[in-house]
Amino acid sequence: MVVVHETSPSRVLLGAGARHAVPEELTRLGADRVLVVATRSAGTTADELVAALGERAVARFDGAVVHTPVEVTEQALSAVADAEADAVVTIGGGSAVGLGKALVARTGLPHLTMPTTYAGSEVTPVLGETKDGVKQTRRDPALLPGTVVYDVDLTLTMPVDLTLTSAVNALAHAVEALWAATSTPVSDALATESARLLLGALPVVLEAPRDAAGREALQHGAWLAGTCLATVPMGLHHQLAHALGGTFDLPHAPLHTVLLAHVVRHNLPFAPAADERLTAISGGDPAAAIAALAASYDGPRRLRDLGVPDDGLAEVADRVAAAPYPNPGPVDAPAVLALLHDAW
Ligand code: NAD
Repeated sequence: MVVVHETSPSRVLLGAGARHAVPEELTRLGADRVLVVATRSAGTTADELVAALGERAVARFDGAVVHTPVEVTEQALSAVADAEADAVVTIGGGSAVGLGKALVARTGLPHLTMPTTYAGSEVTPVLGETKDGVKQTRRDPALLPGTVVYDVDLTLTMPVDLTLTSAVNALAHAVEALWAATSTPVSDALATESARLLLGALPVVLEAPRDAAGREALQHGAWLAGTCLATVPMGLHHQLAHALGGTFDLPHAPLHTVLLAHVVRHNLPFAPAADERLTAISGGDPAAAIAALAASYDGPRRLRDLGVPDDGLAEVADRVAAAPYPNPGPVDAPAVLALLHDAW
């Protein structure tokens, strides 16, 4: 089999205080009229940037929400037009990055992003948008943010629950890259190092949320995991997350956290190379290690805790089995339903 590895062009700045380089980066991009998009959690960072940019900060939009609804994008587009913005800066998790991509898709403006979670959207050329309740995904190299600024300081006050679920969301990208049929030496290296960083640092950071070295390891692991998401097709785990999340309107990262150990247990017997790497990293049974992490917080632990009805599982299993993503373990409807029942 011939596999293809493509490298996406983006400029990445990393390190504590990297946010202070943003005005200079915008100069590099030739930006004179900047729209700053931030989620409420990133308000202080946005205030700081607006002050540093002075007259170059011509508009601010604080309304980014999950799943990138087109109505919100239209409001933000009005802000771009009214202010005649020539660049977009986004600060926040995948929701803010998604809105930035949606604006770029419609305007072609340069996009600098400062991620504050571990979702990884900042390094993917993928945009999921919701219109009339239906989420549609598109992929286009032009959607990739041109500049990514990873400043660990923006993650130090992340609540423990979000830290866990967002890091497990990242881990899912790395794990699925390891068992992908079209993995390459590059994706294997990125995914292995990502899993090592995430699984190594998570227990430390959950214990000491302001541990800067641990936070930096999580952020680096998330970057590598996002790069895997961008370069290698994802399997059953992401397909289930997509199908369940869309059908029952579930929160993105907590859903990944409920599912991942179950999918790992289902797939690893059919993915010996991934099993070997993950076993070495976790020092034992990888599914048990991930399940222990997922059980270490007060958030939802089972699909039923997320509000998924028992009688809704069969339809999801049928849908997933009818259009399966490439996956090492079985994806026939009974096998998927059994997995879903375990997770329920
Ligand atoms: P999010 O951006 O929706 O953030 C979740 C919540 O956490 C929000 O209330 C946000 O304000 C808050 N928050 C963010 N960072 C924080 C911080 N450092 N401290 C405190 N609070 C903080 O969640 P997410 O999981 O990052 O992103 C989910 C969205 O991103 C979904 O729409 C998902 O589909 C999309 N996504 C897309 C891709 C892609 O490649 N296109 C990849 C991953 C996720």
